[in-house]
Amino acid sequence: MRIGFHVRVGGGYDAAVAYATKHGCTSLQFFSGNPKTYRVGAIDTPALQKFAAARTAAGIGPVAIHTSYLINLASEDPKTVFNSLRLLKNDLAVAAVGDVAYVNTHLGSYGTRERSAGFATVVAALEEALDGVAPQVSLVMENSAGAGQLCGGTMEELGACVRTIGHPNLRVCIDTAHSWAAGYAIDTPDGVARFFDLIDREIGLERVVMFHFNDTQIALGGHRDRHWHIGEGLIGIAGFRAIVEHPGARGKVAILETPGEEDDDARNIAALRGVLDGAPVAAA
Ligand SMILES: [Zn+2]
Ligand SMILES: [Zn+2]
Repeated sequence: MRIGFHVRVGGGYDAAVAYATKHGCTSLQFFSGNPKTYRVGAIDTPALQKFAAARTAAGIGPVAIHTSYLINLASEDPKTVFNSLRLLKNDLAVAAVGDVAYVNTHLGSYGTRERSAGFATVVAALEEALDGVAPQVSLVMENSAGAGQLCGGTMEELGACVRTIGHPNLRVCIDTAHSWAAGYAIDTPDGVARFFDLIDREIGLERVVMFHFNDTQIALGGHRDRHWHIGEGLIGIAGFRAIVEHPGARGKVAILETPGEEDDDARNIAALRGVLDGAPVAAA
């Protein structure tokens, strides 16, 4: 697998590449702008191209943009969907000029309406975003923790999006903490095998290009989105080991979105590297 962090780019792209390189990353994820605003900045093509060249020189790629947390493609408010689409399309355009393969997005919440009505809104929004997408850029739907009316908490719902839209550049990211919170028991080899079978049946494993590797202390099926350090939560080293050893994960990208500062990052990526190297399971 290609592994890396969600890195801060506020200190400049060079610092982000240096940080990823220092920790041995072979991939990374970043926000293209402030993730808490609907504002869209001008696209700085030379800076993005320089960032891409620096990543290539460091052996980092493919990489991902994570879209703004404000995005809601399922909203009953057309203005919210319009603003969300503007953010999403901007990230797809940034990805196209910046040699970013994946634009990872949450789908949003249906609010108070019927899921079927919300689903039609999500499908229409994704189709619009994919219209004219650069061939080398994929729009990646991230599974949610499935709280309340959140879209994308089940493999069935993500699979329905994939099949309804039928676009080759529509892909899927599986966040392990969200999967656990949505009720998928991925802490054992059997549980992981069942989960991958379900993904393959509903979505197709070839559509899954990326994982967010986060452990969690939320109870199984707790529908809450809290990330924790790798091997120090309920998924545990055994769960992550089963995931990385599954053929469905081979060669794909794994991004850590674990909390904390640099010492935590170092510990988390060391834990992941240990899992990938087949080191013996250590007590957390
Ligand atoms: Zn996310
Ligand atoms: Zn999360």
